[in-house]
Amino acid sequence: MPDLKKYNSKRNFKNTPEPIGKKKRKKSKQLKFVIQHHIARKDHYDLRLEWKGVYVSFAIPKGLSFDTKDKRLAIHVEDHPLSYGSFEGIIPKGEYGGGTVMLFDFGYWSLTEDENVDFEKGPIKFILKGKRLKGTWSLIHMDKNNWLIIKEKDEFVNKINIKDFNTSIKTGRTMDEISDIKNITLTSGEKIIFKKEKISKQEIFEYYKLISKRMMPFLENRLISTVRSPNGIEKFYMKHLNNQSKDLGKKKIKNKHEQSTNYYYFKNENGLLSEVQMNSYEYHIWGSKVTNLKKPDILVFDLDPDEGLSIKKVREGVKDLKKVLDNLNLKSYLKTSGGKGYHIYVPLQMSSFKECEKIAKDITEVLILNYPDKYTTNIRKENRKNKIFIDYFRNKFGATSVCPYSLRLKKKAPISCPISWKELDKIKPDSITIKNIKERLKKKDPWANFFDNL
Ligand code: MN
Repeated sequence: MPDLKKYNSKRNFKNTPEPIGKKKRKKSKQLKFVIQHHIARKDHYDLRLEWKGVYVSFAIPKGLSFDTKDKRLAIHVEDHPLSYGSFEGIIPKGEYGGGTVMLFDFGYWSLTEDENVDFEKGPIKFILKGKRLKGTWSLIHMDKNNWLIIKEKDEFVNKINIKDFNTSIKTGRTMDEISDIKNITLTSGEKIIFKKEKISKQEIFEYYKLISKRMMPFLENRLISTVRSPNGIEKFYMKHLNNQSKDLGKKKIKNKHEQSTNYYYFKNENGLLSEVQMNSYEYHIWGSKVTNLKKPDILVFDLDPDEGLSIKKVREGVKDLKKVLDNLNLKSYLKTSGGKGYHIYVPLQMSSFKECEKIAKDITEVLILNYPDKYTTNIRKENRKNKIFIDYFRNKFGATSVCPYSLRLKKKAPISCPISWKELDKIKPDSITIKNIKERLKKKDPWANFFDNL
């Protein structure tokens, strides 16, 4: 009978990020499999086949072969929980299996015929339907925990050498990139940052790790300001960071009074993760890159509705503005703010912030000319009654807007999340949160081609 006692007894869950072993009770319609490339004391591939609520697991030193002449050793190891199927990362040195784990492949598997398979005796003939690996193999028992895994004849024979794949099927990272990330030691991961929602620092760190591939194109090499909140209660708006990471760059900027101060930017995702470790959870970006600091490439409109204005009116505002942009042949992208409004980004290479501000102002004025009772650029609250404030001031030199995919330090832990124009009527400005965003990530990235338009 499969069970997870051995799995749990081998691991100290205080020290390892691996999931605690719990058996799944409900029967699955389709059986899952996963292969993890694991560089520990020895380099090997772990093949895990779902069976009776757990993953029956084999460590295969040379990995699966597509050549029917190869007979490769497969060592039957302890059953793993199904939650292990999404694990990728670092098992700390000194812990059981200490090393790097990369998700190599996943999908479904099935037996070729007999349903009454015995994982103690074998033989087991099975078919994998993965993203990378497809076809039929057999597991033949030799002695003790030692089995042989052999490719069976089918149309996939000799099609693939698994050594040709050196990246994660889930995150696209190489082993080295995975190792780099986890070298950032997260401390106080258990600390709760969102009290009501019970969201810990660890959860926020994991979120940024997961989202970094999509977020970094907007975040890296742009000057930033962040919101730090070490305890989830107080907030500190940071422009001048005190984080000593090598993955963080600084740039001297002169203010009106000709005094210069240091501003910061991330060189890569490790910079971001090191800043999460410093308790920064919200990220705001400049409209230009440090490599071209005076020439912005993003035009931004922040639609901020008066309190009590209906969501219908807010959406109407977004559509009105899009129409103006469409008429100017400007391709625009929509994201939720995480608050009450939406943000529109336009990728556009401009020659100066003066030009950027002027374009934004002209567009906003066209909108107000057409609908004087619906929109305003007047910042005073009493002049914004029943109107939407179009904040184009974010296009000035030194101004920032909240970065796509940034978490917001607001109720329910919302994300400022890119959405497609079709989703405008379905998604509220604060309804995508750190709790539900994962579902969305399985779908196509609505902003995938953003910088192609430049
Ligand atoms: Mn292993």
